[in-house]
Amino acid sequence: MRIVVASGKGGTGKTLVATSLALVASERGRTTLLDCDVEAPNAALFLKPELNRKVAAISLIPEVDASLCTLCGRCGQVCQYHAIAVLPQKVMVFREMCHGCGSCAVNCPENAIREIPFSIGALEFGHAGAMAFGQGTLRVGEAMATPVIRQLKKQAAKIVVHDGDTVILDSPPGTACPVIEALRGADFALLVTEPTPFGLHDLKLAAEVARDVLHIPTAVVINKDGVGDQGVESFCREAGIPILMRIPLDRRIAETYSDGRPLIQALPEYRPAFEGLLARIRETVQGRAA
Ligand code: SF4
Ligand code: SF4
Repeated sequence: MRIVVASGKGGTGKTLVATSLALVASERGRTTLLDCDVEAPNAALFLKPELNRKVAAISLIPEVDASLCTLCGRCGQVCQYHAIAVLPQKVMVFREMCHGCGSCAVNCPENAIREIPFSIGALEFGHAGAMAFGQGTLRVGEAMATPVIRQLKKQAAKIVVHDGDTVILDSPPGTACPVIEALRGADFALLVTEPTPFGLHDLKLAAEVARDVLHIPTAVVINKDGVGDQGVESFCREAGIPILMRIPLDRRIAETYSDGRPLIQALPEYRPAFEGLLARIRETVQGRAA
């Protein structure tokens, strides 16, 4: 069961929810938490895993052999990301914009493009108690988070995840390509939001991507419940998106978060709510599979 904890914007409490949900799940069976927020991974601050395996995150960048290239223009036409341009005298590759999709190399009629591995970050794996853990980190200055997330998921499947595990993915914020990569293959999307107009705006976008585009069962957690307005409640009611948990605005939560302590460990009174949340997600996923 792969549960992605996502949000339309950063700072809504995504990691707060993902880490406590993973802890509850790990008490009930084999669980892996993957921190896919590769530009700012911080789940490790709470779970304090022992990381004992590190591999490079690689992007394959095209290199053009000028002696074979006829400047036909095909590579520039097929690149969806404008990362390769065919000029009158030569072909230029803009590495920072390249997604490493390989399309230019496959489509080159002269076989003039080879793909060169280039390190864009790191993947680390280990354990936090009974829980397996993995995180990706995009190298500072690199722009492409998506390949790091893709490789984190792929390597995790080889290194730490076993069949039947519950895998909880802490997604990057937003609704762009990195989030779609985190959501790809998920059984459930849990969207964390705040009950404010900003929260509502970003929730709508995230719900559209997860539920309407990717067709993943989707539910909402409202964090800082009690502030703001009723907009999120109304939207969820009208859109038929269940609200599975409400976390109140509680100063103690902010304090435990800034101390780097998982919520259910610092404030055990919140444990039943997370147990209930996991049970509701399991029911939905199993009901869909039946
Ligand atoms: S597709 Fe190949 S031959 Fe054509 S311009 Fe690109 S590198 Fe050169
Ligand atoms: S690998 Fe893909 S993204 Fe990169 S230049 Fe080639 S076609 Fe464009």
